Amino acid sequence: MIELLILQYHKVTDRFEMGGTRVTTSQFRRHVGEVSRWGYRQLELDSLTGGLPKGRYVLFTFDDGFECVYFNAFPVLQKYGYKGLVFPVAGFIGKENEWDASFGIRFRQMDACQLRELAKHGWWIGSHTLTHPDLRKLDDRTLKKELISSKKLLEDIIGAPVISISYPFGLYDHRVLNFVKDAGYRLGFTSRRNLVPNWSRPLEIERQGVYLIDMSLSPKMDRTSPIFIMESLKQITINQFARLSSLAKHDLPILRWISGMRK
Ligand SMILES: [Zn+2]
Repeated sequence: MIELLILQYHKVTDRFEMGGTRVTTSQFRRHVGEVSRWGYRQLELDSLTGGLPKGRYVLFTFDDGFECVYFNAFPVLQKYGYKGLVFPVAGFIGKENEWDASFGIRFRQMDACQLRELAKHGWWIGSHTLTHPDLRKLDDRTLKKELISSKKLLEDIIGAPVISISYPFGLYDHRVLNFVKDAGYRLGFTSRRNLVPNWSRPLEIERQGVYLIDMSLSPKMDRTSPIFIMESLKQITINQFARLSSLAKHDLPILRWISGMRK
């Protein structure tokens, strides 16, 4: 049997933030230790489109490309012989997360040197678009620009092809997928949508989100446990909330006004 554990992290930091999308540094160390003890080997990106021998495979992914991942996750994964896949918002390399500054708490994104350093150590760099929009809402021209310019920008930084993308807020539709394919991406990552993920669609790879409430990764790994089903339901519910709040953030004039006040 092939068991895939594809994890979606955002921030690895002990710094407070309003949302629960971070994990603490000690939490992250515990997670990586658990994955290693459970015998998970590194999932190579190439094997997602090709064949895999039986076994357990893990892929640690990090959306948004925050600097804290470079400082707090990179050394831990190195220690255990794992690599990560990081998705920076290409228009904000080395800058703060103005596209997502929830309640004025800012986090810095990795700069070009840090991304190159990760790539040098075997990490994969994927695109998270230029400005982190809901891709479904863009006209054709803007959609193309978000996909193609971000890819090119990152390729220029690391000097290697960028073949993967993570959809902002995990949101996409049929039209977006066609544009993604035309832009030259081979792998697309989203969040958990189904109880049983379908691995046969390389542009719709489902990941298990890891949050502050996830003290242990065991419920995500033990498929024989009833908690595993609960865990899947929990993930799907969290994702639905995240999608709703992301829409609210963009669509409610009052929230737009508040975020404008804070700039
Ligand atoms: Zn994101």
